[in-house]
Amino acid sequence: MTDKIIQRKNIHEVLRKRPVIISGPCSAETEEQVVDTATSLAELGLIDILRAGIWKPRTRPGSFEGIGTKGLPWLQRARDLTGLPFMVEVASARQVEDALHFETDALWIGARSTVNPISVQEIANALRGTEIPVFIKNPMNPDLELWTGALERVAQAGVKNIGLIHRGFSVFGNTEYRNAPMWHLAIEMRRRNPELMMINDPAHISGRRDLIPAVAQKAVDLDFDGLMIESHINPECAWTDKNQQVTPEGLRTILNGIVWRKEKSEEAAFNTALEQLRDQINNIDDELLLLLGKRMQIADQIGIYKKENNITILQTARWNEILQRETAKGEALGLSPDFVKTYLEAIHMESINHQNNVMTK
Ligand code: PEP
Ligand code: MN
Repeated sequence: MTDKIIQRKNIHEVLRKRPVIISGPCSAETEEQVVDTATSLAELGLIDILRAGIWKPRTRPGSFEGIGTKGLPWLQRARDLTGLPFMVEVASARQVEDALHFETDALWIGARSTVNPISVQEIANALRGTEIPVFIKNPMNPDLELWTGALERVAQAGVKNIGLIHRGFSVFGNTEYRNAPMWHLAIEMRRRNPELMMINDPAHISGRRDLIPAVAQKAVDLDFDGLMIESHINPECAWTDKNQQVTPEGLRTILNGIVWRKEKSEEAAFNTALEQLRDQINNIDDELLLLLGKRMQIADQIGIYKKENNITILQTARWNEILQRETAKGEALGLSPDFVKTYLEAIHMESINHQNNVMTK
């Protein structure tokens, strides 16, 4: 076949665009499926990078484990036809070598590999001396140190262009999501690594097509740098993750429905109004700290009395009474019971530590 070859876009340039949109099938299944999905996505002008899994680390054995190296020429053909750079998941040194051999544009390390420092180190060693950008998905479990460790291993191997992908964390039992987003962990990871690209993967968080738009919107609202969303020319017949893949048209609907936001505005009136509100928040934060300081002084006094009278620090009935009263009051003020409980627990712990210090003096 004599297809016209389209010059592929430079991956390093593509990765400077915001937002970066990555899409393509969960798994490469057949050449036709890869090429049809890619050309359809390209015709709609929706995406910057094509993705497909060719080695699939499946949680349980006995299901489709990926087409393997044979899928790489299919992705090359899709790239020739569309100009779209492509990325695949790697889980071993051998897979890195194969992916590099077929001039894969970018790689990602999956959640099931990020949990394993030995795998990550093996992958990192195989990446030494290459220029290829590497994305690191969060580990399956909510552990920022494991995610950070993977990042350090890849960075120490000399990889310059590293991105992070937030794909949620596995939890036991039925929840609304396939993987709990635990947004605060992605936010903290971002705070620690402000220079790194942070992509959100709403498909693996949701596990269901209908939940993808809301998760994607939230990621955009939190100023993520891009989205990775699985798409398939015929999701109903997909060999893996069929419930969370969308058609190229479906992807268009999702992306068109998103309200894109930017981190900053040039508009003076908006910035002034925002400054004023932030001033109010700063003042309230100062007042809260003052009050907390006073509260702890009282805890110190209580500690002295308790010591003199030989009374225990913790009195469960009193603690329950505080929890109940404040949760009810908090709800009337629009504060969630979860938040009130977390906040009271932190204060209570600090109070116990204060009393403990006084008593052991
Ligand atoms: C995938 O992207 O297809 C995949 C297997 O993802 P994760 O590692 O997030 O489960
Ligand atoms: Mn998948």
